[in-house]
Amino acid sequence: MTRSGTAARARHLLARATAGVPDDRYPVTHIADLAAREARFGDWPEWVPPAVLDAFVSSGVEKPWSHQVEAASAAWSRRNVVVATGTSSGKSLAYQLPVLSTLTTDSKATALYLSPTKALSGDQLRSVCDMDVAGVRPARYDGDTPQSERGWVRDHARWVFSNPDMLHRGLLPAHPRWARFFRGLSYVVVDECHGYRGVFGSHVALLLRRLRRVARRYGADPVFVLASATTADPAEFATRLIGDDCVAVTDDGSPHGARTVALWEPPLLDELTGENDAPVRRSAGAEAARILAELVIEGARTLAFVRSRRGAELTALAAKRILAEVAPELADKVAAYRAGYLPEERREVEAALLGGELLGVATTNALELGVDISGLDAVVLAGYPGTLASFWQQSGRAGRAGEDALVVFVARDDPLDTYLAHHPKALLDRPVEAAVLDPANPYVLAPHLACAAAESALTTPELDDFGGDAAKAVLDSLVADSLLRRRPSGWYWTARDRPHGDVDIRGSGAEQIAVVESDTSRLLGTVDGASACGTVHPGAVYLHRGESYVVDELDLEQGIAFVHAEDPEWSTSARDVVDIEVLDVSEKLVYDGVTVNLGHVAVTSRVVGYLRRLHTGEVLDHVPLDLPEQVLHTRAVWYTIDDQLLCGQGREPGGTGVEPARVPGALHAAEHAAIGLLPLFATCDRWDIGGVSTAVHADTGEATVFVHDGHPGGAGFADRGFAAFVPWLTATREAVISCECPAGCPSCVQSPKCGNGNEPLDKAGAVAVLDLVLAAVGAATGPAHDHTHDQAADGSTGRT
Ligand SMILES: [Zn+2]
Ligand SMILES: [Zn+2]
Repeated sequence: MTRSGTAARARHLLARATAGVPDDRYPVTHIADLAAREARFGDWPEWVPPAVLDAFVSSGVEKPWSHQVEAASAAWSRRNVVVATGTSSGKSLAYQLPVLSTLTTDSKATALYLSPTKALSGDQLRSVCDMDVAGVRPARYDGDTPQSERGWVRDHARWVFSNPDMLHRGLLPAHPRWARFFRGLSYVVVDECHGYRGVFGSHVALLLRRLRRVARRYGADPVFVLASATTADPAEFATRLIGDDCVAVTDDGSPHGARTVALWEPPLLDELTGENDAPVRRSAGAEAARILAELVIEGARTLAFVRSRRGAELTALAAKRILAEVAPELADKVAAYRAGYLPEERREVEAALLGGELLGVATTNALELGVDISGLDAVVLAGYPGTLASFWQQSGRAGRAGEDALVVFVARDDPLDTYLAHHPKALLDRPVEAAVLDPANPYVLAPHLACAAAESALTTPELDDFGGDAAKAVLDSLVADSLLRRRPSGWYWTARDRPHGDVDIRGSGAEQIAVVESDTSRLLGTVDGASACGTVHPGAVYLHRGESYVVDELDLEQGIAFVHAEDPEWSTSARDVVDIEVLDVSEKLVYDGVTVNLGHVAVTSRVVGYLRRLHTGEVLDHVPLDLPEQVLHTRAVWYTIDDQLLCGQGREPGGTGVEPARVPGALHAAEHAAIGLLPLFATCDRWDIGGVSTAVHADTGEATVFVHDGHPGGAGFADRGFAAFVPWLTATREAVISCECPAGCPSCVQSPKCGNGNEPLDKAGAVAVLDLVLAAVGAATGPAHDHTHDQAADGSTGRT
């Protein structure tokens, strides 16, 4: 409950941030007060050995919170459990308690901790080391572990802190040498598991199935304990991720201060125009810098989250510049924080911010993982961080028990941000989105089955864990390609070299292009072959761990992109022209004049150039490129509209329609906006998906709008779009009409990666198209093959 007066300080800070803004430019679109939450405690479970209890008490935990006890007890009773609660709610204790208790009472037991980043893994290891429970022997095993120490870890460590990459390349292929460890394996801790989504999530899901299989070979059956940010249906997600039943603990017993959330939309600029003379808004980063400076003047300890590292640095600089003029003594109290800092450096920033030597810090998402900063006076988010889970995780850094805090969400110039700035319920009252992953994707499944067979021959009963018939089909193709051999006892890997090294669990399973620094020949990373022309074309600005590089040459035959370190003032976005072919339709819903489809498609694309854009949003120029066509086999969701309905012929008087000449622009604008909004329903980035619209498509014979996954085989995004079709298109329509621009801008229907230079685009036509489709779909409660018009209950398509 919100008590009157609790938000006084936050309201004061907000007033300060908006002081002097003329009324007609007032940027705040909504203010919400979120109630404080009181702490709820539980009792230490009876099964906790005295040594472990003492360790927790002397590390400062007098009494555990209720959710910690609930999750720890589930794990102790050998049930897989996911604890999905807010930022700083002490999720570590939930797994430390059962793991340390088991390691203390069973001298043969071992445990594995996995985190997506080395920084987080290092922090968790330190926390366990500091507790100093006798006999636990925690140790790190990742790419940084010296060869000289690896043998000791294998032979003696009882709690190994590692990451999925090392599990894949280090532990599983060498399992005979880890026999002691696997034999005793009692727990597998999967931290920050909400990060395992999309293609990477599908890889990790299969990796965890391989892990369980190897453990079983050694007679172990580990309990999985997962920690997650709050997400929709964490039990279902965790079950899908680990491939076994998992219960969820979501009732957060940790206390939190009251927060006031302000939604902020920067005004359209008078002095600047973008592509096709569209209006542009002030950048979210520049706006965040001004807010940051004002809050620092008020003495509020503030964290500003900015999407890129360069953006974070520019925001910190701009805030310092403002302060240098109005309050020079405060300019040194603002800093930028980035990924790649050493643990000691991170500790310093943490301590300085908590102690008040620093008042304002601009950061990338780096701070989301592995840094323990909470209880701040204010958080500024420059742009939607992509998922509601991240939004709550970042805003959860503000507010501590007994004091209120301010959260400001600054919208970027993009349809999703526009939608959220005008639809506070979608941001503040919606359950966090489900994380999507698809372990049945054959592009991901094939390499993992090859690895599994190389770890030990695969038997028919084991296939159930890997998707049953889907796995069987993939194995048949691996046998046909002579990669595996089928014998009566199972499937065998027969080559001398193991397949593990060729499998990039952070890639899509397709061919990879190496990104190499020309001067040093250093391999910076890899990008998918399918997307290379779009991300590492000549002239592209390529970001790697926040460092900026410019691509000199893309050699597709050799599979190498050569880059040099350079940090220009602009960013680049590739433009491609796309063709799509329907390969098969897996699901189809038929309405009066409209069909909604899900299926496999072949997407043929060609990058034709790229746009250089300054960080202010101003477009510098378009640079043409001549690159070969790429073909991507993936999944898509698409809708078709018949001509009669689309152009309003034969409709009842007053029926809407679009003039034939406006149809291409209307469909194109509706497609762009839909791509921008899909990330609201599936945890993807708009760069993970693409689209095509056409007035007559060869395969459907009708006006069609496609939205497709950007990864070979798909990552589940198109499937989510199909399942959430009505809410998705409803939100798309809302985003377009919420934008006050006259004829289309980046905040509504323009797309940063449009291969047609954002032409033609018809904003009003897009609304008409979306109205037609929603009316047709909403008028039926299910697939209306017989064209009946039953009541429209909740506008759903009658599917789940
Ligand atoms: Zn607009
Ligand atoms: Zn376009």
